Amino acid sequence: MAPVKTPQDLVKRRLLRLYGALVARHGPQGWWPARSPFEVAVGAILTQHTAWTSVERAIANLSGDRALTAARLAALATPRLEGLIRPAGTYRLKARRLRAFAAWLLARFQGRMAALEREPLAALRRELLAVPGIGPETADSILLYGAGRPVFVADVYSRRVLARHRIVPQRIGYEELRGFLESHLPGDPRLFNELHALLVAVGKSHCRTRPRCDGCPLRWDLRGRPPRG
Ligand code: SF4
Repeated sequence: MAPVKTPQDLVKRRLLRLYGALVARHGPQGWWPARSPFEVAVGAILTQHTAWTSVERAIANLSGDRALTAARLAALATPRLEGLIRPAGTYRLKARRLRAFAAWLLARFQGRMAALEREPLAALRRELLAVPGIGPETADSILLYGAGRPVFVADVYSRRVLARHRIVPQRIGYEELRGFLESHLPGDPRLFNELHALLVAVGKSHCRTRPRCDGCPLRWDLRGRPPRG
């Protein structure tokens, strides 16, 4: 007799089918675009409330100043750091956040991002969240894309798509959505990496503030109903 499928299995199968449809349409996304794990962390902090194109300019400035290590970034004078990251907006605030992260990484792991790959995950995430200016989405981007840890970046794009498809409640919070995805998917960082990037891609191409379901690779999953919300 075939094993009975639990609701957990059914959600997992549905999420994986959505993933398959997104891969088929958009292809591998190759996230995160960075040359080192420290650059991932810098990008995750700089991209808060800022378009990625602006972040790229700030990162190019930091790279040109050879400041993309914790020690070198921490050694920059504040006006210099602020000037380099100015294209990313709110540069004074972000300079403080970059400094706080670099100071934490230096104090805790001698500036080595590789150490984040081995530490017990839950305690490490709590530590990161205690660094001033590192919120859940930033912490999880650093852990997933900078350290290859199985943490889902449950951002606004993931919530929008999954809520419109009635997979999660519309008002689900960040931590609840992260827990939902992590508990319903295989704990594979490569899957979390690609699925998150693909949800961002469909969120930009079709599932915008007003959904454009015509031509969307996930339309079949609405099963003839309009998107919720
Ligand atoms: S645009 Fe429509 S079909 Fe596409 S993900 Fe959003 S709700 Fe689903």
